[in-house]
Amino acid sequence: MSGSCGHRHTHDEAMLSVEEALERILSYFEPLEAVDVPLAEAGGMVLAEDAVSDMDVPPLDNSAMDGYAVTSESVAGAGAGSPATLRVAARIAAGEVPSAPLEPGTAVRIMTGAPVPPGADAVVPFEDTDEVERRRAGRTLGEISIGAPAAPGANVRRAGGDIRRGQTVLRRGTEMGPAHIGVLASLGRAAARVHRRPRVAILSTGSEVVEPGRPLPAGSIYDSNGAAVAAAVLEAGGVPRPLGTVPDDEAAVEAGIDEGLGSDMLVTSAGVSKGDFDLIKDVLARRGEMQFWSVRMRPAKPLAFGLLASGDGSGRTVPHLGLPGNPVSALVAFEQFGRVAIARMLGRPRARRPTVRAVLDEPISNADGRRVYARVVVSRRGGTYHASLTGDQSSNLLTSMAHANGLAICPEDAPGRLAGEEVDVVMLRWPPDVF
Ligand code: AMP
Ligand code: MG
Repeated sequence: MSGSCGHRHTHDEAMLSVEEALERILSYFEPLEAVDVPLAEAGGMVLAEDAVSDMDVPPLDNSAMDGYAVTSESVAGAGAGSPATLRVAARIAAGEVPSAPLEPGTAVRIMTGAPVPPGADAVVPFEDTDEVERRRAGRTLGEISIGAPAAPGANVRRAGGDIRRGQTVLRRGTEMGPAHIGVLASLGRAAARVHRRPRVAILSTGSEVVEPGRPLPAGSIYDSNGAAVAAAVLEAGGVPRPLGTVPDDEAAVEAGIDEGLGSDMLVTSAGVSKGDFDLIKDVLARRGEMQFWSVRMRPAKPLAFGLLASGDGSGRTVPHLGLPGNPVSALVAFEQFGRVAIARMLGRPRARRPTVRAVLDEPISNADGRRVYARVVVSRRGGTYHASLTGDQSSNLLTSMAHANGLAICPEDAPGRLAGEEVDVVMLRWPPDVF
Protein backbone atom coordinates (compact mmCIF):
# COMPACT_ATOMS: atom_id res chain seq x y z
CA MET A 1 0.00 0.00 0.00
CA SER A 2 1.20 3.53 -0.62
CA GLY A 3 -0.08 7.06 -0.39
CA SER A 4 -1.11 6.95 -4.03
CA CYS A 5 -4.48 5.50 -3.17
CA GLY A 6 -5.24 8.64 -1.22
CA HIS A 7 -5.06 6.83 2.11
CA ARG A 8 -3.54 8.95 4.85
CA HIS A 9 -1.47 6.14 6.34
CA THR A 10 2.01 5.32 5.25
CA HIS A 11 2.33 2.11 7.28
CA ASP A 12 1.75 -1.25 5.69
CA GLU A 13 -1.09 -3.51 6.65
CA ALA A 14 0.72 -6.81 6.44
CA MET A 15 -1.02 -10.19 6.37
CA LEU A 16 0.62 -12.45 8.95
CA SER A 17 0.19 -15.95 10.32
CA VAL A 18 -0.51 -16.26 14.05
CA GLU A 19 3.07 -17.50 14.54
CA GLU A 20 4.61 -14.61 12.58
CA ALA A 21 2.62 -12.07 14.57
CA LEU A 22 3.57 -13.77 17.82
CA GLU A 23 7.25 -13.92 16.91
CA ARG A 24 7.31 -10.21 16.06
CA ILE A 25 5.53 -9.33 19.29
CA LEU A 26 7.73 -11.51 21.48
CA SER A 27 10.88 -9.92 20.04
CA TYR A 28 9.94 -6.83 22.08
CA PHE A 29 9.73 -8.62 25.42
CA GLU A 30 12.13 -10.20 27.83
CA PRO A 31 11.95 -11.23 31.46
CA LEU A 32 11.63 -8.18 33.72
CA GLU A 33 14.23 -7.40 36.36
CA ALA A 34 14.64 -9.60 39.42
CA VAL A 35 13.11 -8.50 42.70
CA ASP A 36 12.84 -10.02 46.17
CA VAL A 37 9.24 -10.95 46.84
CA PRO A 38 7.91 -12.18 50.21
CA LEU A 39 7.43 -15.94 49.93
CA ALA A 40 3.68 -15.86 50.38
CA GLU A 41 3.37 -13.62 47.30
CA ALA A 42 5.75 -15.54 45.05
CA GLY A 43 3.27 -18.14 43.80
CA GLY A 44 3.23 -18.28 39.99
CA MET A 45 6.37 -16.16 39.72
CA VAL A 46 9.60 -17.46 38.21
CA LEU A 47 12.95 -17.78 39.98
CA ALA A 48 15.49 -15.37 38.53
CA GLU A 49 18.49 -17.24 39.99
CA ASP A 50 19.38 -20.73 41.18
CA ALA A 51 18.55 -21.34 44.82
CA VAL A 52 21.65 -22.82 46.50
CA SER A 53 21.30 -24.05 50.05
CA ASP A 54 23.63 -22.80 52.76
CA MET A 55 22.39 -25.36 55.26
CA ASP A 56 21.41 -28.98 55.71
CA VAL A 57 17.69 -29.79 55.80
CA PRO A 58 16.82 -31.15 58.21
CA PRO A 59 19.57 -29.32 60.11
CA LEU A 60 20.03 -32.22 62.55
CA ASP A 61 19.35 -35.93 63.00
CA ASN A 62 15.82 -36.19 64.38
CA SER A 63 13.20 -38.74 65.20
CA ALA A 64 10.57 -39.80 62.66
CA MET A 65 8.36 -41.31 65.38
CA ASP A 66 7.22 -40.86 68.96
CA GLY A 67 9.19 -43.56 70.76
CA TYR A 68 12.53 -44.38 72.37
CA ALA A 69 15.99 -43.49 71.09
CA VAL A 70 18.32 -46.45 71.59
CA THR A 71 21.45 -48.06 70.25
CA SER A 72 20.39 -50.70 67.74
CA GLU A 73 22.86 -53.04 69.49
CA SER A 74 20.95 -52.86 72.77
CA VAL A 75 17.76 -54.19 71.18
CA ALA A 76 19.36 -56.55 68.64
CA GLY A 77 17.98 -59.75 70.19
CA ALA A 78 14.61 -58.36 71.29
CA GLY A 79 11.40 -60.23 70.41
CA ALA A 80 7.83 -60.49 71.68
CA GLY A 81 8.79 -63.31 74.05
CA SER A 82 12.24 -61.96 74.93
CA PRO A 83 11.98 -58.19 75.32
CA ALA A 84 15.01 -55.97 75.96
CA THR A 85 14.66 -53.94 79.12
CA LEU A 86 16.26 -50.51 79.21
CA ARG A 87 16.32 -47.71 81.75
CA VAL A 88 14.68 -44.51 80.48
CA ALA A 89 17.31 -41.89 81.21
CA ALA A 90 15.73 -38.74 79.78
CA ARG A 91 12.96 -37.26 77.70
CA ILE A 92 13.33 -34.96 74.69
CA ALA A 93 10.57 -32.96 73.03
CA ALA A 94 10.74 -31.38 69.56
CA GLY A 95 12.61 -28.09 69.86
CA GLU A 96 14.75 -29.25 72.79
CA VAL A 97 18.40 -30.12 72.70
CA PRO A 98 19.65 -33.41 74.29
CA SER A 99 21.38 -32.58 77.55
CA ALA A 100 23.70 -35.58 77.35
CA PRO A 101 24.69 -38.39 74.97
CA LEU A 102 22.84 -41.68 75.26
CA GLU A 103 24.50 -43.92 77.81
CA PRO A 104 24.89 -47.58 76.79
CA GLY A 105 22.05 -49.74 78.05
CA THR A 106 19.61 -46.84 78.39
CA ALA A 107 16.85 -45.33 76.27
CA VAL A 108 15.66 -41.74 75.80
CA ARG A 109 11.99 -41.06 75.42
CA ILE A 110 11.75 -38.96 72.24
CA MET A 111 9.02 -37.16 70.29
CA THR A 112 8.68 -36.82 66.50
CA GLY A 113 11.02 -34.09 65.24
CA ALA A 114 13.14 -34.02 68.40
CA PRO A 115 16.93 -34.27 67.97
CA VAL A 116 18.28 -37.82 68.32
CA PRO A 117 20.89 -37.74 71.13
CA PRO A 118 24.49 -38.53 70.21
CA GLY A 119 25.17 -42.22 70.70
CA ALA A 120 21.66 -43.32 69.67
CA ASP A 121 21.30 -44.75 66.18
CA ALA A 122 17.67 -45.90 66.12
CA VAL A 123 14.24 -45.01 67.44
CA VAL A 124 11.84 -47.71 68.59
CA PRO A 125 8.23 -46.55 68.15
CA PHE A 126 5.88 -46.72 71.13
CA GLU A 127 4.00 -49.55 69.37
CA ASP A 128 6.98 -51.87 69.83
CA THR A 129 7.21 -51.22 73.58
CA ASP A 130 5.12 -51.66 76.68
CA GLU A 131 4.40 -47.93 76.57
CA VAL A 132 0.63 -48.38 76.91
CA GLU A 133 0.94 -50.46 80.07
CA ARG A 134 3.51 -48.02 81.45
CA ARG A 135 1.21 -45.11 80.84
CA ARG A 136 -1.73 -46.89 82.38
CA ALA A 137 0.46 -47.39 85.44
CA GLY A 138 1.38 -43.68 85.41
CA ARG A 139 5.07 -44.25 84.77
CA THR A 140 7.09 -42.04 82.46
CA LEU A 141 10.70 -42.79 83.35
CA GLY A 142 11.81 -45.98 85.01
CA GLU A 143 12.21 -48.98 82.73
CA ILE A 144 10.92 -49.73 79.27
CA SER A 145 10.44 -53.10 77.73
CA ILE A 146 11.13 -53.36 74.01
CA GLY A 147 9.66 -56.27 72.07
CA ALA A 148 11.25 -55.86 68.63
CA PRO A 149 14.74 -55.19 67.24
CA ALA A 150 15.56 -51.91 65.44
CA ALA A 151 17.96 -51.73 62.51
CA PRO A 152 20.66 -49.05 62.63
CA GLY A 153 19.09 -45.84 61.35
CA ALA A 154 15.52 -47.02 61.91
CA ASN A 155 13.12 -44.05 62.29
CA VAL A 156 15.99 -41.57 62.30
CA ARG A 157 15.81 -38.71 59.78
CA ARG A 158 19.35 -37.86 58.92
CA ALA A 159 20.64 -34.29 58.84
CA GLY A 160 20.75 -33.24 55.16
CA GLY A 161 18.43 -36.09 54.20
CA ASP A 162 16.30 -33.70 52.13
CA ILE A 163 18.76 -30.95 51.18
CA ARG A 164 22.52 -30.72 51.62
CA ARG A 165 24.47 -27.55 52.23
CA GLY A 166 25.82 -26.30 48.89
CA GLN A 167 23.19 -28.12 46.87
CA THR A 168 21.30 -26.34 44.08
CA VAL A 169 17.75 -27.04 45.18
CA LEU A 170 15.74 -25.06 42.63
CA ARG A 171 16.89 -23.92 39.23
CA ARG A 172 16.46 -20.47 37.81
CA GLY A 173 13.38 -20.50 35.59
CA THR A 174 11.33 -22.58 38.02
CA GLU A 175 7.73 -21.47 38.30
CA MET A 176 6.97 -21.26 41.99
CA GLY A 177 4.22 -23.45 43.41
CA PRO A 178 3.40 -24.13 47.04
CA ALA A 179 6.06 -26.86 47.41
CA HIS A 180 8.82 -24.71 45.84
CA ILE A 181 7.91 -21.90 48.22
CA GLY A 182 8.00 -24.40 51.10
CA VAL A 183 11.48 -25.53 50.05
CA LEU A 184 12.79 -21.95 50.18
CA ALA A 185 11.14 -21.44 53.56
CA SER A 186 12.82 -24.65 54.82
CA LEU A 187 16.13 -22.96 54.00
CA GLY A 188 15.18 -20.04 56.23
CA ARG A 189 14.47 -17.65 53.41
CA ALA A 190 11.72 -15.09 53.81
CA ALA A 191 11.77 -13.94 50.18
CA ALA A 192 12.25 -15.36 46.69
CA ARG A 193 14.28 -13.68 43.97
CA VAL A 194 11.91 -13.68 41.02
CA HIS A 195 11.15 -11.66 37.90
CA ARG A 196 8.70 -8.98 38.84
CA ARG A 197 5.15 -9.00 37.57
CA PRO A 198 4.46 -6.74 34.59
CA ARG A 199 2.13 -3.79 35.04
CA VAL A 200 -0.29 -3.77 32.15
CA ALA A 201 -2.29 -0.63 31.38
CA ILE A 202 -5.66 -1.21 29.75
CA LEU A 203 -7.47 1.45 27.74
CA SER A 204 -10.77 1.04 25.91
CA THR A 205 -11.18 3.38 22.97
CA GLY A 206 -14.41 4.25 21.21
CA SER A 207 -16.90 7.12 21.47
CA GLU A 208 -19.69 4.63 22.03
CA VAL A 209 -18.20 2.86 25.07
CA VAL A 210 -19.20 3.84 28.59
CA GLU A 211 -17.72 2.57 31.83
CA PRO A 212 -19.94 0.12 33.70
CA GLY A 213 -21.68 1.65 36.70
CA ARG A 214 -22.67 4.82 34.85
CA PRO A 215 -25.93 5.63 33.10
CA LEU A 216 -26.00 4.53 29.46
CA PRO A 217 -26.65 7.38 27.02
CA ALA A 218 -28.53 6.70 23.78
CA GLY A 219 -26.30 5.14 21.13
CA SER A 220 -23.78 3.83 23.67
CA ILE A 221 -22.74 0.42 24.91
CA TYR A 222 -20.95 -0.56 28.06
CA ASP A 223 -17.21 -1.14 27.92
CA SER A 224 -16.87 -4.87 28.43
CA ASN A 225 -13.33 -5.10 27.08
CA GLY A 226 -11.76 -3.09 29.88
CA ALA A 227 -12.92 -5.41 32.65
CA ALA A 228 -12.53 -8.60 30.62
CA VAL A 229 -8.96 -7.79 29.55
CA ALA A 230 -8.06 -6.72 33.11
CA ALA A 231 -9.24 -10.11 34.35
CA ALA A 232 -7.26 -11.84 31.61
CA VAL A 233 -4.14 -9.86 32.58
CA LEU A 234 -4.54 -10.95 36.18
CA GLU A 235 -5.08 -14.55 35.16
CA ALA A 236 -1.92 -14.39 33.04
CA GLY A 237 0.10 -13.21 36.05
CA GLY A 238 0.26 -9.49 35.28
CA VAL A 239 -0.92 -6.55 37.34
CA PRO A 240 -3.74 -4.76 35.53
CA ARG A 241 -3.91 -0.95 35.56
CA PRO A 242 -7.35 -0.08 34.23
CA LEU A 243 -7.35 3.32 32.51
CA GLY A 244 -11.03 3.40 31.62
CA THR A 245 -12.38 4.60 28.31
CA VAL A 246 -11.51 7.37 25.86
CA PRO A 247 -13.60 8.57 22.93
CA ASP A 248 -12.41 8.45 19.32
CA ASP A 249 -10.71 11.79 19.75
CA GLU A 250 -7.04 12.61 19.18
CA ALA A 251 -6.38 14.52 22.37
CA ALA A 252 -8.23 11.98 24.51
CA VAL A 253 -6.38 9.02 22.99
CA GLU A 254 -3.06 10.81 23.46
CA ALA A 255 -3.88 11.53 27.07
CA GLY A 256 -4.77 7.87 27.59
CA ILE A 257 -1.52 6.74 26.03
CA ASP A 258 0.40 9.10 28.31
CA GLU A 259 -1.22 7.49 31.33
CA GLY A 260 -0.15 4.07 30.10
CA LEU A 261 3.49 5.01 29.58
CA GLY A 262 4.56 4.09 33.11
CA SER A 263 3.53 0.49 32.54
CA ASP A 264 5.33 -2.47 31.00
CA MET A 265 2.70 -2.87 28.30
CA LEU A 266 -0.30 -0.89 27.11
CA VAL A 267 -3.26 -2.84 25.82
CA THR A 268 -5.97 -0.93 23.99
CA SER A 269 -9.11 -2.20 22.38
CA ALA A 270 -10.88 -1.05 19.21
CA GLY A 271 -9.82 1.42 16.60
CA VAL A 272 -7.56 -0.95 14.67
CA SER A 273 -9.89 -2.31 12.03
CA LYS A 274 -10.47 -0.85 8.62
CA GLY A 275 -13.72 0.98 9.25
CA ASP A 276 -12.47 3.00 12.14
CA PHE A 277 -11.87 6.66 12.38
CA ASP A 278 -8.44 7.18 10.96
CA LEU A 279 -7.41 9.49 13.73
CA ILE A 280 -6.85 6.65 16.21
CA LYS A 281 -4.42 4.96 13.92
CA ASP A 282 -2.86 8.34 13.14
CA VAL A 283 -2.27 9.10 16.80
CA LEU A 284 -0.65 5.72 17.32
CA ALA A 285 1.46 6.05 14.18
CA ARG A 286 2.63 9.49 15.24
CA ARG A 287 3.50 8.43 18.77
CA GLY A 288 5.51 5.40 17.87
CA GLU A 289 6.55 2.69 15.48
CA MET A 290 3.15 1.14 15.05
CA GLN A 291 2.40 -1.77 12.82
CA PHE A 292 -1.09 -2.62 11.72
CA TRP A 293 -1.59 -6.22 10.80
CA SER A 294 -4.15 -8.58 9.48
CA VAL A 295 -3.59 -11.85 11.27
CA ARG A 296 -4.76 -15.02 9.52
CA MET A 297 -7.10 -15.94 12.34
CA ARG A 298 -10.79 -15.83 13.21
CA PRO A 299 -11.86 -14.08 15.30
CA ALA A 300 -9.41 -11.19 15.80
CA LYS A 301 -8.00 -10.55 12.35
CA PRO A 302 -7.06 -6.86 12.79
CA LEU A 303 -4.27 -6.24 15.28
CA ALA A 304 -1.92 -3.37 16.03
CA PHE A 305 1.43 -3.68 17.69
CA GLY A 306 4.30 -1.32 18.27
CA LEU A 307 6.39 0.76 20.60
CA LEU A 308 4.83 4.00 21.76
CA ALA A 309 7.18 6.80 22.74
CA SER A 310 6.53 9.21 25.53
CA GLY A 311 5.76 12.71 24.25
CA ASP A 312 8.20 14.31 26.70
CA GLY A 313 11.42 13.52 24.82
CA SER A 314 12.62 11.21 27.60
CA GLY A 315 13.08 8.37 25.14
CA ARG A 316 10.85 6.13 27.19
CA THR A 317 8.80 3.65 25.23
CA VAL A 318 6.10 1.14 26.04
CA PRO A 319 5.05 -1.84 23.94
CA HIS A 320 1.50 -1.41 22.76
CA LEU A 321 -0.89 -4.19 21.84
CA GLY A 322 -3.94 -2.93 19.99
CA LEU A 323 -6.77 -5.46 20.24
CA PRO A 324 -9.82 -5.43 18.00
CA GLY A 325 -12.96 -3.91 19.50
CA ASN A 326 -15.34 -6.82 19.28
CA PRO A 327 -15.34 -8.42 22.73
CA VAL A 328 -14.68 -12.00 21.63
CA SER A 329 -11.97 -10.85 19.23
CA ALA A 330 -10.37 -8.81 21.99
CA LEU A 331 -10.21 -11.79 24.34
CA VAL A 332 -9.04 -14.27 21.71
CA ALA A 333 -6.32 -11.88 20.52
CA PHE A 334 -5.27 -11.28 24.12
CA GLU A 335 -5.15 -15.05 24.63
CA GLN A 336 -2.84 -15.52 21.64
CA PHE A 337 -0.58 -12.50 22.10
CA GLY A 338 -1.11 -10.62 25.36
CA ARG A 339 -0.88 -13.67 27.58
CA VAL A 340 2.26 -14.84 25.89
CA ALA A 341 3.91 -11.43 26.24
CA ILE A 342 3.10 -11.42 29.96
CA ALA A 343 4.51 -14.94 30.33
CA ARG A 344 7.73 -13.78 28.66
CA MET A 345 8.03 -10.79 31.03
CA LEU A 346 7.42 -13.08 34.01
CA GLY A 347 10.24 -15.31 32.77
CA ARG A 348 7.94 -18.27 32.23
CA PRO A 349 9.36 -20.63 29.68
CA ARG A 350 5.92 -21.21 28.21
CA ALA A 351 2.39 -19.89 28.33
CA ARG A 352 0.76 -22.97 26.89
CA ARG A 353 -2.65 -24.13 27.95
CA PRO A 354 -3.53 -27.80 28.16
CA THR A 355 -4.66 -29.08 24.77
CA VAL A 356 -6.87 -32.08 24.10
CA ARG A 357 -8.04 -33.92 21.01
CA ALA A 358 -11.82 -33.83 20.91
CA VAL A 359 -14.54 -35.10 18.59
CA LEU A 360 -16.66 -32.28 17.17
CA ASP A 361 -20.41 -32.39 17.80
CA GLU A 362 -21.00 -29.76 15.08
CA PRO A 363 -19.02 -28.69 12.03
CA ILE A 364 -16.67 -25.67 11.93
CA SER A 365 -16.60 -23.77 8.64
CA ASN A 366 -13.57 -21.91 7.34
CA ALA A 367 -14.39 -20.09 4.10
CA ASP A 368 -11.41 -17.75 3.86
CA GLY A 369 -8.31 -19.65 4.88
CA ARG A 370 -7.88 -18.34 8.41
CA ARG A 371 -7.11 -20.30 11.57
CA VAL A 372 -10.43 -20.62 13.32
CA TYR A 373 -10.64 -20.58 17.10
CA ALA A 374 -14.15 -21.87 17.73
CA ARG A 375 -15.75 -21.43 21.15
CA VAL A 376 -16.63 -24.87 22.48
CA VAL A 377 -17.62 -26.76 25.58
CA VAL A 378 -15.45 -29.83 26.00
CA SER A 379 -16.82 -32.69 28.02
CA ARG A 380 -15.62 -36.23 28.53
CA ARG A 381 -18.06 -38.98 27.70
CA GLY A 382 -17.16 -42.64 27.74
CA GLY A 383 -13.43 -41.97 27.79
CA THR A 384 -13.52 -39.57 24.80
CA TYR A 385 -13.45 -35.78 24.76
CA HIS A 386 -16.30 -34.18 22.82
CA ALA A 387 -16.45 -30.54 21.72
CA SER A 388 -19.75 -28.77 21.24
CA LEU A 389 -19.96 -25.23 19.80
CA THR A 390 -21.40 -22.68 22.22
CA GLY A 391 -23.62 -21.36 19.43
CA ASP A 392 -23.32 -18.56 16.87
CA GLN A 393 -19.63 -17.74 16.41
CA SER A 394 -20.04 -14.01 15.70
CA SER A 395 -17.29 -12.08 17.44
CA ASN A 396 -19.64 -9.69 19.20
CA LEU A 397 -21.39 -12.45 21.17
CA LEU A 398 -19.55 -12.43 24.46
CA THR A 399 -21.81 -14.95 26.17
CA SER A 400 -20.67 -17.58 23.66
CA MET A 401 -17.14 -17.01 25.01
CA ALA A 402 -18.33 -17.02 28.62
CA HIS A 403 -19.95 -20.43 28.17
CA ALA A 404 -16.94 -21.96 26.41
CA ASN A 405 -14.22 -23.85 28.25
CA GLY A 406 -12.00 -24.22 25.19
CA LEU A 407 -11.11 -22.99 21.72
CA ALA A 408 -11.31 -25.66 19.01
CA ILE A 409 -8.86 -25.08 16.20
CA CYS A 410 -9.51 -25.48 12.50
CA PRO A 411 -6.21 -24.93 10.67
CA GLU A 412 -5.95 -22.17 8.05
CA ASP A 413 -5.38 -24.63 5.20
CA ALA A 414 -8.54 -26.66 5.91
CA PRO A 415 -11.92 -25.68 4.44
CA GLY A 416 -13.53 -26.67 7.71
CA ARG A 417 -14.05 -29.57 10.02
CA LEU A 418 -17.00 -31.94 9.93
CA ALA A 419 -19.08 -33.13 12.83
CA GLY A 420 -17.45 -36.35 14.07
CA GLU A 421 -13.93 -35.20 13.12
CA GLU A 422 -11.23 -34.87 15.76
CA VAL A 423 -9.71 -31.46 16.42
CA ASP A 424 -7.23 -29.86 18.79
CA VAL A 425 -8.87 -27.86 21.53
CA VAL A 426 -6.95 -25.35 23.63
CA MET A 427 -8.50 -25.54 27.06
CA LEU A 428 -9.20 -22.17 28.66
CA ARG A 429 -10.45 -23.91 31.79
CA TRP A 430 -9.23 -27.19 33.07
CA PRO A 431 -10.39 -29.82 33.83
CA PRO A 432 -13.41 -30.05 31.54
CA ASP A 433 -16.67 -31.55 32.72
CA VAL A 434 -16.71 -35.31 33.07
CA PHE A 435 -19.89 -37.27 32.49
P1 AMP B 1 -13.94 -1.32 16.29
O1 AMP B 1 -12.77 -2.18 16.51
O2 AMP B 1 -13.76 0.05 16.84
O3 AMP B 1 -14.34 -1.33 14.86
O4 AMP B 1 -15.12 -1.95 17.10
C1 AMP B 1 -15.71 -3.18 16.70
C2 AMP B 1 -16.94 -3.45 17.52
O5 AMP B 1 -16.56 -3.64 18.87
C3 AMP B 1 -17.95 -2.32 17.52
O6 AMP B 1 -19.25 -2.86 17.48
C4 AMP B 1 -17.70 -1.66 18.84
O7 AMP B 1 -18.83 -0.96 19.33
C5 AMP B 1 -17.35 -2.81 19.70
N1 AMP B 1 -16.51 -2.40 20.83
C6 AMP B 1 -15.44 -1.60 20.75
N2 AMP B 1 -14.90 -1.41 21.96
C7 AMP B 1 -15.67 -2.09 22.83
C8 AMP B 1 -15.60 -2.29 24.24
N3 AMP B 1 -14.65 -1.71 24.97
N4 AMP B 1 -16.54 -3.06 24.82
C9 AMP B 1 -17.50 -3.63 24.07
N5 AMP B 1 -17.59 -3.51 22.74
C10 AMP B 1 -16.69 -2.74 22.11
MG1 MG C 1 -14.71 1.83 16.85
